[in-house]
Amino acid sequence: MNSHHASWIDQAAQLDAEDALASYREYFAFPQRDHRPVAYFCGNSLGLQPARAETIVLEELEDWRRFGVEGHFQSRRPWYSYHRWFAEPLARLVGALPHEVVAMNTLTVNLHLMMTSFYRPTPERHAILCAGGEFPSDRYAIESQIRLHGLDPATSMIELAPREGASTLTTEDILEAIAARGQETALVLFSGVHFYTGQLFDIAAITKAAHDAGAMAGFDLAHAIGNVELSLHDWDADFAVWCSYKYLNGGPGAVAGLYVHERYADRADLPRLAGWWGNDEATRFSMAHSFVPTHGADGWQLSNAQVLPLAVLMSSLEIFDRAGMDRISAKRDQLTGFLERLLQEVIASRDWIRIITPSDAARRGAQLSVHFDRHGREIFEQLIAQGVIVDWRTPSVIRMAPAPLYTSFADVVRLATTLETLLAAHQ
Ligand SMILES: *Cc1c(COP(=O)(O)O)cnc(C)c1O
Repeated sequence: MNSHHASWIDQAAQLDAEDALASYREYFAFPQRDHRPVAYFCGNSLGLQPARAETIVLEELEDWRRFGVEGHFQSRRPWYSYHRWFAEPLARLVGALPHEVVAMNTLTVNLHLMMTSFYRPTPERHAILCAGGEFPSDRYAIESQIRLHGLDPATSMIELAPREGASTLTTEDILEAIAARGQETALVLFSGVHFYTGQLFDIAAITKAAHDAGAMAGFDLAHAIGNVELSLHDWDADFAVWCSYKYLNGGPGAVAGLYVHERYADRADLPRLAGWWGNDEATRFSMAHSFVPTHGADGWQLSNAQVLPLAVLMSSLEIFDRAGMDRISAKRDQLTGFLERLLQEVIASRDWIRIITPSDAARRGAQLSVHFDRHGREIFEQLIAQGVIVDWRTPSVIRMAPAPLYTSFADVVRLATTLETLLAAHQ
C-alpha cells in the first residue's frame, strides 16, 4: 500500500460517517466477488437491485394467481390503472406535472413515438440538430426518422462537434450553432447527460435557443434521470424520454418513460402512433369510434401496463422518494468530487490518462469518463477482476459512476487504490 492510501482511507471514513444517505446502501443488493461485495461504479449502465423488488414482484404474481383476470380491478394495486402509480414519483424526478409523464415501453420506442409527433419537417425546416458522438440507438432512431420523411441524414442531421482539442461542447457553442442553423432545424434533440463524456447539458438554455429559432426541443434523459435535478416543465422542454435501468435501478429492460409538456395535453391534432391505452378511458373498449387521445402524456400510451417490470421500478422509486433528489444531488457532488480528486492524484504523473468529463460540478452528474491513450481496455478488465465494477466504452474511455444511493466514499478509495496499484505495472 502506498503511504497516501492511509490518508485517503481516513478521509473516506470521516465522509461516510457524515453521510446522510449512508444507510441507503442497505436498500440494495450488491453482487459479490471473492466472497466480498463489489465496489459498484456502473449505476449509469445498470443500477443495483432494490431490496424490495422481489417482494413487490411476488405480490403481483400472487395477485395474478389469486384473481386471474379480475386482478385488473381487484388486486392490491389494480393493474387497470397501474401506470398511474408512477406519474407522481416520476414527475418529481423530472420536474413536471403528473399528467405530463407516463411510464411505458422502452427508451428507443418512446423516442420514436415522440419524434413522430414532434419532428414534423418541412422543405425549409427539415433538420434534427444534436450533439456529436451520441448513443448509437439515438443516432439510428434519428436517421431512420429522417429517412421516414423521405429526407437524407447526410443533409438533415446536424451533429455538433467540440472545438479542436476539446472533449466536450461549450454551452456557448451549442447556443451559437442553434442560432446559426435554426432556420433549417425542425427539432433540437439533446441528451441531458452525454453517455460518453458525462457532460451535463444546459437544458433550459438549449430549449430557449431552440424555441427562439422556431424549433422544437426534446431531450433523452437516459443518463440524467435519478442522477441530476431536473425541471422540465419550468425549462419549457417540449418532450423528453428516458430509460429506467440506469440510475433509476428499474432492472434489465425496465419500463421507460416520457414527458410531454402540458401545452400538448389536449392536442388531438398532433400526429401520433396510437394504441388503445392512449384512448380516452370512457370509450377505450368501444370498437365503433375513432381514436380520441386522453389528456396529457397518457394519450401517447399504446398498450396496457407492463405490471411485472413496473413492480420492480416501484421498489426503486420508493427509495428515491424517501431520499429526495436534493440529498441525492448533494451527495453526488461530494462523492464525484472526491473521486475526481483521488483520480487526479493517481494520474498526475501519467500524461496518457485524463478525465474528459467537465470538472465544474454544474456541468456533470455522477459520472467521470477517464480517457486512456493506451492500455485502457486491459486496465478496465483488471479492475473488474479485482471487484471494482466500472465499464469500458470504445474507443478509449473507462466510465466510473458513483451512484449516491449506494456507493460509499470507501468504495471510491477502493477504486483509486486498485487503479494506482494496477498502473504501477504500465507505462
Ligand atoms: C442507455 C441508452 C439507450 C438505450 O436504449 P434502450 O431503448 O433502453 O435499449 C439509448 N440512448 C441513450 C442515450 C442511452 O444512454
